[in-house]
Amino acid sequence: MNKKAIIIGSGIGGISASIHLSKLGYQVDVYEQAEKPGGKLNEIREGGFRFDTGPSLFTLPNLVDNLIELSGSSSKDIFKYDKLENVCRYYFTDGTVFNAWSDTEKFASEASRVFNEPKSNVENYLTRVKEMYDLSADLFIFKPFARFSTLRSKAGKKVATKIHKLDMLLSMHKRNKRSFRSKKLVQLFNRYGTYNGSNPYKAPATLNMIAHLEHNDGAFFPEKGMYSIVTTLVDRAKAMGVKFHFNKKVDRVLVDGKKLIGVEIDHEKIEADKVISDMDVTNFYKHLMPKKKLPLRLKIMEKSSSAIIFYLGINRTFPDLDVHNILFADNYKEEFDYLFKRKRTYHDPTVYIFISNKSTKTDAPSGCENWFVMINAPVNIGQYTEEVLSDVRANVLKKINSMLNVDIESHIVFEEMGNPITIEEKTSSAGGAIYGGSSNSRLSAFLRHPNKHSKIKDLHFVGGSVHPGGGIPLCIASAGIVAEDIKNEIIDQQ
Ligand code: FAD
Repeated sequence: MNKKAIIIGSGIGGISASIHLSKLGYQVDVYEQAEKPGGKLNEIREGGFRFDTGPSLFTLPNLVDNLIELSGSSSKDIFKYDKLENVCRYYFTDGTVFNAWSDTEKFASEASRVFNEPKSNVENYLTRVKEMYDLSADLFIFKPFARFSTLRSKAGKKVATKIHKLDMLLSMHKRNKRSFRSKKLVQLFNRYGTYNGSNPYKAPATLNMIAHLEHNDGAFFPEKGMYSIVTTLVDRAKAMGVKFHFNKKVDRVLVDGKKLIGVEIDHEKIEADKVISDMDVTNFYKHLMPKKKLPLRLKIMEKSSSAIIFYLGINRTFPDLDVHNILFADNYKEEFDYLFKRKRTYHDPTVYIFISNKSTKTDAPSGCENWFVMINAPVNIGQYTEEVLSDVRANVLKKINSMLNVDIESHIVFEEMGNPITIEEKTSSAGGAIYGGSSNSRLSAFLRHPNKHSKIKDLHFVGGSVHPGGGIPLCIASAGIVAEDIKNEIIDQQ
């Protein structure tokens, strides 16, 4: 009889793990507390509008392709996506508008034209971040980091000989300031710190490699929207025999000393040979293993930022806006001081507007647009009163009005809000952090919880709160690491 694996949670990490485990011959059951899969990668459909509720930026699509291929299907047939010509349209408070073209040469020329930045500065920077990514991705993203075997592996040795290239001593901001003359270009590249919920004025310059993904590799968008990543992969998992159980909250993980027994759901004991948790790891320990101490690393590690999102149905079109748009704050440094030191939102926030129906026409009724309007926000520590959230809304609308010269409120025909409290309620992420821990320190990579329990050998972890971190590609990578571990165990047992 097949060995049994239970997966807790159907976020992108859990879904990816289900495909891997099924491929390894396990009978896989995924238990999900919500009524549908996806976790943070989810959608709202209302009044003819469709909104992706969480992720909107899609990089490394080949990782999704690989899962589809692993499941025995061809990605080309069932999951189509386009490369965006314009990665993002940036609006600055002095009226400057900048298109971050995907094509490197076009991007460098645009930076030279709009910001008066020598093209060579941009080209050298993009070459350097590519080198950083190529040098370290295997070690930092696709392998179980901080394990002796990894550090001694080919990937580990490669990094050890060129460790200076990782630029760990400067902050992202300091490196960017040394790289560009234009303050606006510094701000633009600093923004990549937010891609894993970090503060670019603190996070090591190693993270500048995030820009490589969008600017050298490209930003993509699925033809049927971000949620189609979930529906496609869940369909493939089901075709492989994976069973999904919705509205089923796992209450406990059952262990006997160091031996894994299974899980408890609604007072029922369900045995398993493997349990893989895709749940936020802090809440996993607090709620599912309350007798075990919260690992020290989880107490020390600063949480990533969260977000406040307004899903707005808009009854007109804005031809000047693109799929991804940023309305920058004037004082970016102060905005991050508010987010990470004062733990409050900023009164003149950087506003991100994502409009999927610029690419997927059916996401809004004709003549309308589906606006996903997001600002970065600190995790919930009790500061989000109704009054605070109402002030945030007013500040966000004020910013949109002033930068786009519009009265946006008069065009809103549908509105829903997501915030750190609702993110925690819906997905069990501690404080509503959207990327688990931040990378605000050089030690962050070492502090991140590993993909395997230190004592209970059949208990594994995937998803954004464990190694290698948050974001769709990294969550998919976490499932690959767990699969590799289990495959090695199977080989050892033979
Ligand atoms: P999660 O999405 O955290 O899901 C965990 C699942 O486990 C949930 O479905 C939850 O209901 C379930 N669960 C929890 N506890 C239990 C239990 N006890 N029993 C059963 N089920 C349980 N990433 C990008 O790549 N690009 C972006 O542009 C981007 N933007 C983002 C914007 C926002 C607003 C948010 C919220 C996130 C964004 N992210 C982005 C981050 C990305 O969404 C996450 O890193 C990723 O989706 C997390 O996946 P996960 O596998 O960790 O699972």
